[in-house]
Amino acid sequence: MLTATGGIDKLDVTYVPDAPAPHAGEVRVGIRAAALNHLDLFVAEGLPGTADRFPHIVGADGCGIIESVGPDVTTVRAGDRVMINPGISDYSCEFCQAGEHSLCVNYRLLGEHLPGTLAELVTVPVHNIAPIPALVPPLSWGEAAAFSLVTLTAWRMLVTRARVKAGETVLVWGIGGGVSLTALRIAKLCGARVIVTSSSDAKLAAAKALGADVTLNHGTQNVSQEVRALTTKRGVDIVVENVGAATWDESLRCLGRGGRLVTCGATTGPQVGIDLRRLFWHHWSVLGSTMGNAAEYAEIVRRLGNGELRPIVDRVYPLNQVQDAYERLTKAQQLGKIVVEVS
Ligand SMILES: [Zn+2]
Repeated sequence: MLTATGGIDKLDVTYVPDAPAPHAGEVRVGIRAAALNHLDLFVAEGLPGTADRFPHIVGADGCGIIESVGPDVTTVRAGDRVMINPGISDYSCEFCQAGEHSLCVNYRLLGEHLPGTLAELVTVPVHNIAPIPALVPPLSWGEAAAFSLVTLTAWRMLVTRARVKAGETVLVWGIGGGVSLTALRIAKLCGARVIVTSSSDAKLAAAKALGADVTLNHGTQNVSQEVRALTTKRGVDIVVENVGAATWDESLRCLGRGGRLVTCGATTGPQVGIDLRRLFWHHWSVLGSTMGNAAEYAEIVRRLGNGELRPIVDRVYPLNQVQDAYERLTKAQQLGKIVVEVS
């Protein structure tokens, strides 16, 4: 948990009261593993809109075993192995009623607005859990913890928002991060040609092994010039952004006619510019996306059960080394998800 904002040295492992016993429509999960996301760094730094009451239990992604269920819960029972979808919706507003749960007017995330998954117990709505599919070899707790947030985010970005089609070309920035790596795999699953970037040649080599068609080192290569050359000056159909200010202008230079730029993050800064003449002349679409709805979550869990989109775990840390886990994420050293074993 976080004792205050101000960075990862404010993280501490300590005893707190158990998560409340489940009410109607809820389950309490005994957490086995949690996975880190950039969101967790923003919460630790104390970005506006994130946690403001302390101590605060961090962690959005997690999995474990159901410890107890609320009085009316019949679809799952104690002992079931489950993954958690960290986006909590009210299931009553107009957006929820239309099936758009991540547009909920009361949308909250575990570990940001609500107590998170880096704890022995967490209580969540039964809507927010999914049984861990049986795979061969079986999913580890770390893999199950690593699945939900980035897969849901990247799925909605590419499939629902950008409507990626077979044969299209997709550019994905910063392939080490969980959303980017998952976006690569979803784009390949959909039959697209994928160009990825990183400043690390080792990460680019790993991305190639995971199916990237072209790799560019954005530390040593001019990405938009390379993209123009690779596409006979046409540009790409889709750019997957979560970097923000540092890459925005280059992203637009890479975007072809009818192109879609889809973004879910602003790691390097939220303020960017756009030339409206280029926007309308090229029929560009600039698309925002956050998390995903219940139907999308069900679909990615189904895909996982088919053996697709199996999570890639970078490294697993024991709970007493949680600061080291955060440190690795802070330095962007990972390829795949950083996991913390809870029990
Ligand atoms: Zn709602």
